[in-house]
Amino acid sequence: MSAHTTEGQPTLHRCRSCRTYTLSGTCPRCGGPAGTPHPAKYSPEDRYAKYRRALLADDRRKNTVDAPPRA
Ligand SMILES: [Zn+2]
Repeated sequence: MSAHTTEGQPTLHRCRSCRTYTLSGTCPRCGGPAGTPHPAKYSPEDRYAKYRRALLADDRRKNTVDAPPRA
């Protein structure tokens, strides 16, 4: 009984938070999601990250630059 599959081989993953290498999909250190060290060029997550960064920057501006009340 031999199954012709390569899924039995361990795949090296890397935590996206603390960059810890692990063989499971979850980081043993911080419990964060671990994925393949070499992700695709275009990932939807990256897109969202870009938007989130822009939103964060915009929010910071609004918080930092406190518009003085006009008399
Ligand atoms: Zn981690």
